[in-house]
Amino acid sequence: MTYEKRSDGRKMDELRPIMAKVGIIPNADGSALFAAGKTIAIAAVYGPKLLHPAHMKKPDRGIIRCNYNMLPFSVSERARPGPSRRSKEIGMVSGNALASVVDLKRFPNAVIDVDIMILQADAGTRCAGINAAAMALAHAGVVMKEMISSVAIGKIDDKIVTDITKEEEDYHDGEGATDIPYTLTSNTKQITHLQLDGKIQVNRLKESYEAAKIACEKVLDCQKRALKGEDIDENKESKK
Ligand code: ADP
Repeated sequence: MTYEKRSDGRKMDELRPIMAKVGIIPNADGSALFAAGKTIAIAAVYGPKLLHPAHMKKPDRGIIRCNYNMLPFSVSERARPGPSRRSKEIGMVSGNALASVVDLKRFPNAVIDVDIMILQADAGTRCAGINAAAMALAHAGVVMKEMISSVAIGKIDDKIVTDITKEEEDYHDGEGATDIPYTLTSNTKQITHLQLDGKIQVNRLKESYEAAKIACEKVLDCQKRALKGEDIDENKESKK
């Protein structure tokens, strides 16, 4: 038995419909929404501003302080509000992915606060959050060496698939499902964030990176268009 057909009818290398928009939170210095299918993330950027508490200050550079949270009813079972081990870990990896492209030496003693909120979750929330946060940073005018774009590639049984859903993550037949969230830089296609939940052979991992490169290029196109002021909603476009 092999995984032949995706439950939502997408091709193996097809992303879910994307929504992307900047400037959704007027009081933030930068803000954005990024959605992939039923996964919806928003991000707000505040700063760069002087860092408090003072003992965390770095005299030679700024820091990115990234928080990731989910709305309690963003998942089928109500998620407990407040920080969890999972949310702290995702906040940390998202912040690191962003920090690798921001020239933090320009902001000594400062902090850039990045707040990611998941409004609705259907897997790939860390990727949607990173996409929204990168757009929000650019919208705030923070100089970035490159843009970053993120997507979760899966291996479901023997197939490499792009942008997996929760239902696909939970696939248990055959070899089961492996979830590999990737974040890539826009020009040099370097990996700034990579996680792996499950198991995969090295040659298939390389295949998954190639799939991530193609998918991230499509995500990047939406991020760039949104940053130019377009209100992107591929759900509407597909109905036209
Ligand atoms: P990601 O959302 O980045 O794929 P995970 O692999 O941890 O991160 O989560 C996969 C999916 O599992 C989430 O997108 C969400 O649909 C679901 N999920 C995560 N946490 C919870 C939770 N506390 N309760 C119910 N579902 C959850």
